[in-house]
Amino acid sequence: MRLRNVKDSDKKISIHPKVVKNEKNYKGKWNKIFNNDNPIHIEIGMGKGKFITTLAKNNPNINYIGFEKFTKVLVRALKNLEEEDLRNVLVIRMDAEEILDVFQEGEIDRIYLNFSDPWPKDRHDKRRLTHHNFLEKYEKILSPDGRICFKTDNKDLFEFSLEEIEKYGWKVEKVTRDLHSNDNGEDNIMTEYEEKFVSMGIPISRLEAVKER
Ligand code: SAM
Repeated sequence: MRLRNVKDSDKKISIHPKVVKNEKNYKGKWNKIFNNDNPIHIEIGMGKGKFITTLAKNNPNINYIGFEKFTKVLVRALKNLEEEDLRNVLVIRMDAEEILDVFQEGEIDRIYLNFSDPWPKDRHDKRRLTHHNFLEKYEKILSPDGRICFKTDNKDLFEFSLEEIEKYGWKVEKVTRDLHSNDNGEDNIMTEYEEKFVSMGIPISRLEAVKER
């Protein structure tokens, strides 16, 4: 039963027009794929896709690409994508480890990391999406003014990320440890995880980071 599920998901993804196949062939050519020169924003670990779909709907002059590692999760995002007829959003099933194979230097203007897996064990720290190995990759693909926008419910991951980001030469801006209790949350678009945590009264931390060059 489980196997059939995976097979069905694989098939759905392989034929869906919003899911990019052979993404590594488009390195440096994303503006041609979108057929315009608009800025490109990406979300890594998009989950079921409410956040990126809402952003794409609200900002038709920005192109969005969502990354999700697992087929079974991405297939659930397709429903959100199908409900809107959006020309400015695409998704890719891929591990962010390979992101340098997909974008050329400076091709991206913003990276969203929302409720990234915390990987609490020290020996798994390299898997955290804010580990400096990932920051090095982000630095390469971001344009000079490009930024990372990161939010999480996880206090330890947030403090780790803040330390890592500052230690590796990024300027941190707009830091809050309680996004929903002050004005910073005004333009905030909630993700599926965020809705769940907020309904449980758990504070959400957020920061933005720009590489000092
Ligand atoms: N961003 C969504 C939200 O806030 O509702 C989902 C959060 S969920 C905790 C983290 C998601 O990131 C999972 O769907 C997971 O599969 C994905 N993910 C984790 N590591 C990833 C990686 N290295 N590359 C791509 N996706 C990843």
